[in-house]
Amino acid sequence: MPFSLLKYGLHNDYPFEKDADLPPPKKLKPNYDVVIIGGGGHGVATAYYLAKYHGITNVAILEKGYLGGGNTARNTAVIRSNYLTPEGVKFYSQSVKLFEGLANEFDFNIMYSKRGQLTLAHTDAAVRGFRQRAEINKHFGGKTELVDPQQIRELVPSLNMNPADLPVLAGLWHMDGATARHDAVAWGYAKGATQRGVELHQLTEVTDVLVENNRVTGVKTNRGTVTCGAVVQAVAGHSSLLAAKAGFKMPLLSYPLQAMVTQPVKPFLDPLVSSPALHCYVQQTGRGELVFGGGSDPYPLYNTRSTLDLKESLLAHAIELFPFMANLRLLRQWAGLTDMTSDYSPIMGLSPVDNYYLDAGWGTWGFKSTPICGKTMAQLVASGGQVPELIQPFSMARFQSFQQVNEMGATAASH
Ligand code: FAD
Repeated sequence: MPFSLLKYGLHNDYPFEKDADLPPPKKLKPNYDVVIIGGGGHGVATAYYLAKYHGITNVAILEKGYLGGGNTARNTAVIRSNYLTPEGVKFYSQSVKLFEGLANEFDFNIMYSKRGQLTLAHTDAAVRGFRQRAEINKHFGGKTELVDPQQIRELVPSLNMNPADLPVLAGLWHMDGATARHDAVAWGYAKGATQRGVELHQLTEVTDVLVENNRVTGVKTNRGTVTCGAVVQAVAGHSSLLAAKAGFKMPLLSYPLQAMVTQPVKPFLDPLVSSPALHCYVQQTGRGELVFGGGSDPYPLYNTRSTLDLKESLLAHAIELFPFMANLRLLRQWAGLTDMTSDYSPIMGLSPVDNYYLDAGWGTWGFKSTPICGKTMAQLVASGGQVPELIQPFSMARFQSFQQVNEMGATAASH
């Protein structure tokens, strides 16, 4: 190590960031302009953009656990915009653009790593679907191409091209595919929001929602009652439970979603690789570990336990893709809670209760939308209920007017 670097590191004036920590806990105020329920990435991003672009800082984020400790800390951090519908591609492309500038905006490293995402087609029907997705993506400015087996071999030399006797016929190569450190995204937004005056209250559970004449007036918490001018509900897998407290139903079911990680090995896999037919995706982290994931558990449940049957089936499929992985040791397995809509698209916007806004239905794919969802939700709240054009297709009312945004094929096991 160069001597000057050591001297710099040990020097008394080492320029550590004095405001690196979040502010210490405060008492709840009796009233806020806006209460945000849920201190995951979405909740803190909404608070950040409310403060930054709309000057609304009398805001409390109420989190029953700790900052980012829900699905934000449990996801596998896939960022992409290669969806199927024009509505989806437009929305997620904006998020990818925001992610690209987030580290600079926060002055904080979110470890954004653009390495491309490769989705494998094992049937003629999948090849047709991928061709359509590539064209829609390109139309809206995304970088996505259909690639042939030779190109796939060049991108991922270690891939088995005939996993489980399902030959790889083609691939959807999405050059914008990336990952980022999920906790850092939550910390960056939380820090930016609290520096601007927003209050983050951890260990503060919302136990009831107060509604009078169809307007939300406040919330009850385990630390007392607060009144407020508006509420944003951003509680991911608990969306239906909170909505029930506000007096309405949501078209959602909550399912556990599991993932797992191996011991680290030498870097061999740059792109994110996913096989919808094998219901499995694999990526290598900067530390060399391999992260695996797949679809949600096949039954609704409010539980985040890990199961042996998922471990066996997911690993069997991952080993089909990369046979040498059979020799690796699994380090950890974990789960989160996903609130799934029937069209695999989120619910953002108005609810049946005035001034009670919804950020829900993020299923297995909501990390990548954190920046754009926060930004558009902040616009919605600041405008007093005018839904930004970008999120209009994702209203809850679409399920009554049969205008669903079907992203099932483009979501599945790719997140
Ligand atoms: P959360 O981070 O879950 O935050 C909601 C918060 O609300 C929680 O902290 C919770 O404690 C709090 N809360 C709940 N009820 C209350 C209450 N009554 N009072 C106060 N607080 C409350 N997405 C991707 O884009 N890419 C991926 O690769 C990806 N992989 C995933 C892998 C796994 C295993 C899982 C579980 C999810 C994955 N997702 C992925 C989905 C993604 O993690 C979520 O959609 C996203 O984190 C949702 O963010 P959020 O801020 O809305 O929710």
